[in-house]
Amino acid sequence: MALQQISSFAAGQWVAPGAGARTIASAITGAPIASAGNDALDVLAMLDHARNTGGPALRKLGFHDRARMIKALGQALNARKAELYAASFDTGATQSDHLIDIDGGIGTMFVFASKGRREMPDGQIYLDGEVEQLSRNGTFLGQHVCTPLQGVAVHINAFNFPVWGMLEKLAPTLLAGVPSIVKPATNSCYVTELAVRIMLEADILPAGALQLVSGGLGDMLDHLDCQDVVSFTGSADTALKLRSNPVILQNAVRFVAEQDSLNASILGPDAESGTPEFDLFIKEVAREMTTKAGQKCTAIRRIIAPQPRVEAVIEALSARLSKTVIGDPRDEATRMGALVSGGQKADVLAKAAIIGQEAEQVFTMDPGLSGDLANGAFVPPMLFHCADPDRAQRVHDTEAFGPVSTVMGYRDMDHAVTLANRGGGSLVTSLITHDADVARDVVMGAGAFHGRIYINNRDSMKESTGHGSPLPHMVHGGPGRAGGGEEMGGVRGVKHYMQRTAVQGSPEMLARIGGKWVPGATEVAGPAHPFTRRYNELSIGETLHTASRTVTMDDIEHFAHFTGDTFYAHMDDAAAKRNPFFPGRVAHGYLLLSFAAGLFVEPNEGPVLANTGLDGLRFMKPVSAGDSIKVRLTVKKKTRRTDEYGEVRWHVTLTNQDDEMVAEYELLTMNAY
Ligand code: NAP
Repeated sequence: MALQQISSFAAGQWVAPGAGARTIASAITGAPIASAGNDALDVLAMLDHARNTGGPALRKLGFHDRARMIKALGQALNARKAELYAASFDTGATQSDHLIDIDGGIGTMFVFASKGRREMPDGQIYLDGEVEQLSRNGTFLGQHVCTPLQGVAVHINAFNFPVWGMLEKLAPTLLAGVPSIVKPATNSCYVTELAVRIMLEADILPAGALQLVSGGLGDMLDHLDCQDVVSFTGSADTALKLRSNPVILQNAVRFVAEQDSLNASILGPDAESGTPEFDLFIKEVAREMTTKAGQKCTAIRRIIAPQPRVEAVIEALSARLSKTVIGDPRDEATRMGALVSGGQKADVLAKAAIIGQEAEQVFTMDPGLSGDLANGAFVPPMLFHCADPDRAQRVHDTEAFGPVSTVMGYRDMDHAVTLANRGGGSLVTSLITHDADVARDVVMGAGAFHGRIYINNRDSMKESTGHGSPLPHMVHGGPGRAGGGEEMGGVRGVKHYMQRTAVQGSPEMLARIGGKWVPGATEVAGPAHPFTRRYNELSIGETLHTASRTVTMDDIEHFAHFTGDTFYAHMDDAAAKRNPFFPGRVAHGYLLLSFAAGLFVEPNEGPVLANTGLDGLRFMKPVSAGDSIKVRLTVKKKTRRTDEYGEVRWHVTLTNQDDEMVAEYELLTMNAY
């Protein structure tokens, strides 16, 4: 059968395999199925296309435009995911594995699209944190801002997640406004190539925003500079080789590494046999060992259990693992498919043999495969027991990237934490316990060594997302052995592709740069009451100054009895005076807010659709009967929400008859276009 030709997409053209192409075999049968790679790929033209065509086009758009694009890409992939499933079986993955890789990847796009629109501005500059007061009178301020890097992101991915691995990097990169060149691992690049084709055929991205290298990267990394990022997922050995490239070091090219990791799962001391936690632990460990045939960077490699329960854990795990149906991943009855290649099978068996020098193998099984499958890259689950984990070393540093895990006993929680940390830095450690004190101790003792700590028990198990699932909302990455990198984590992940700059200047400068009014910046008097103006008519800085209103003792009495808020500071002059904050009876803060609304509101039906909240409320000075208050209302920020309305954030200050600030807050309204 003719081999499928897996192309690259370089500088706007599909380039077929050429000299130097590698043959890719089916994980299921070992038979050659495809060819990928071309030594003549013009990497300089690719870099140029990304930097000079893709980047400028992406940067012209705002965060919300790019978020909409990411959503559309996710929808395009979703509509054709059956094709991706069909292509993926040859990597050895089962249908449930596809759900993690393909559906998980598409879901990640949707989360970033939604976070981009909800948590990032409808503009081109991201404001990182609040304004910093740098001067006594507020005429000189500081604001951190993030702007897109002006180079290219080179994404180098591992073989195990050909779709998710690409999309979890692509979504934050595009949202940042940076073009990418994706280089999947050759062994499974035919699935990635199809996903790229689907995205390009949907014609959503500007030219140069997405390119693909199927096969080797050539000398691309030798041409990167300070505006580029390499985001790598793969083995520690390859990461070390690539990050020590002299050009990368010399030009301080950002290098994000997600590499292998000796993840652990700890069974809490409270989780006796027969508790829901014990059963949950066994279920999660078995699932982590067999999903993707153990080829998950987050899979549990070390099972840390209280010493007296080690035997029960081995027994229960072995019973569960023995039910694993190994076979053709296309077969619905199959629970565990094959490793990606014969090379990986040899590697896993070699690593298991190393672990076997320090640990006794306590479970394995005969996969019982024949015919074509006999040549596939199948391995059975392998469980080891290490009796002396303190003296052992290889069980803590050997990653067998397959269904291989080692049980070890602990004496007390300090010992459990020490063992978990022996991995030298990992992506995830889980803890199955119902004891919050144990959980707190583990977070304190192990947090510094692990990028994620997953705690599960009877209360959360029905809805928990699984030890092994990195989520787009949460940080993925870990220190030391895990690469020292960080990905995703919501908007944090987008910032990896942006430069944070400390901008200092006057309030007016900061307001104009950030598209957000800052106290001290120009106030604009609008042509009419701002509540009569539609979303797109309102300008940043547009301000209303109201008339003033005197607060009387009758008002305070009335409000107290009407609402039931007869707190002593409003009702009892002597008691209020004994309080260090009040000169005597004072008006309720909520009364002042209500009077403020009464002062600034425009009562007629108009473009203000709803008051949706209030942020950052502070009462600064008490108001007594006889004092008067007035309000200043300024348009601080506008955010489009739908085609019909957008959110207006108003900066509101209440001042008294002496112009002293009484209260300050931000009011949110939804306004029609
Ligand atoms: P790998 O051999 O290190 O390869 C990773 C990627 O690097 C592949 O795309 C590979 O391309 C590329 N590569 C290798 N040498 C290169 C070079 N000289 N220049 C440019 N690119 C080069 O890892 P793998 O076998 O694909 O993946 C398994 C490993 O990845 C495991 O150790 C696992 O723990 C780790 N992993 C980590 C995470 C995480 O998020 N931390 C996720 C998944 C996997 P070729 O395929 O073309 O060689």
